[in-house]
Amino acid sequence: MRIEEDLKLDFKDVLIRPKRSTLSSRKEVDIKRDFVFKWSGRTFNGTPIVAANMDGVGTMAMAKAFAKHGEGLSAALTKHYSVDELAAFFKTKDAHNAWYSLGTTKADADKLKAVLKKADKNILTKLCIDVANGYSEAFVSYVKMMRDTFPKMTIMAGNVVTHEMVEELLLSGADVVKVGIGPGSVCTTRKMTGVGYPQLSAIIECADAAHGLGGLVCADGGCTVPGDLAKAFGAGADFVMLGGMLAGHDQSECEITQQNGQKFVTFYGMSSKTAMTKHSGGVAEYRASEGKTVHVKYRGDVKATLQDILGGIRSACTYVGARKLKELSKRTTFIRVTQQINNVFGES
Ligand code: 5GP
Repeated sequence: MRIEEDLKLDFKDVLIRPKRSTLSSRKEVDIKRDFVFKWSGRTFNGTPIVAANMDGVGTMAMAKAFAKHGEGLSAALTKHYSVDELAAFFKTKDAHNAWYSLGTTKADADKLKAVLKKADKNILTKLCIDVANGYSEAFVSYVKMMRDTFPKMTIMAGNVVTHEMVEELLLSGADVVKVGIGPGSVCTTRKMTGVGYPQLSAIIECADAAHGLGGLVCADGGCTVPGDLAKAFGAGADFVMLGGMLAGHDQSECEITQQNGQKFVTFYGMSSKTAMTKHSGGVAEYRASEGKTVHVKYRGDVKATLQDILGGIRSACTYVGARKLKELSKRTTFIRVTQQINNVFGES
């Protein structure tokens, strides 16, 4: 047994120090990024925010809303659409910024091949290979196999939280490594297993490792307010993935329920009992559920939420004098705090 003594931080433990700036308005801030992916060689131009591949978030309706919004956000589609639905979607212009998500079973690989036979290969160009625990040798081999099979595909893979696994995945063919174990809004991994890593420190350490190798990271999980995205980008995240912050909208493709005149949408973790019952006929005996089911307030069209999030990030950039999102991490000094938000009138 060993104890690491240096303090690891979460979003709530820091604020961004304001800096003198020549910017006069947030309109002057460019929050799009340009990337050339390390392995696929493909380019990305857009706002690097990704809807998580979760039911109620990574939907085709969300991808369409993002396309309409025009800022180049992208959605990682849930893996529970049928081959035909996916093949049809990946022929449309709305899918240009969508990620095709898959796990690591043979069935997942077979399904991808079936979709690729019918989809437009110039549109289905981005894969999100997603497992709860990215630390297994088998996962690394799977990423290698996918890289060998699909040399021109952009591959995002995860999740991990430490530099050595970021390096291993990047060297095995990932273009983007997804970072986050346990911070999610409907995740119970830390409670059930005691395993995890404070998300801000995970981003800082993983981004540093990835950038050294010409790779990128996607900070996944734990953002609860727009300021958390600014902190994630400030910490060095290239992409930020959102689940809970995008749940509860018209684009969730799920049922809206009413209770005492208030409208709700059910939202759940992808390894919750709800998800396992829905998609795999129940919780396997050897597996504990590591996700929860919650009811989130129905919030209408996602457009207003996006405006809030993007407005927050633009404003953060003006506070530190970053004309482009790319400059935000260079301009960021975090200060450690004991309180960040004044909740005297409630949390909203
Ligand atoms: P959020 O933005 O809601 O805080 O976090 C979203 C992320 O939580 C997802 O992208 C995914 O990595 C993670 N996640 C989703 N469902 C589950 C689950 O059931 N269990 C765990 N441990 N993590 C989950």
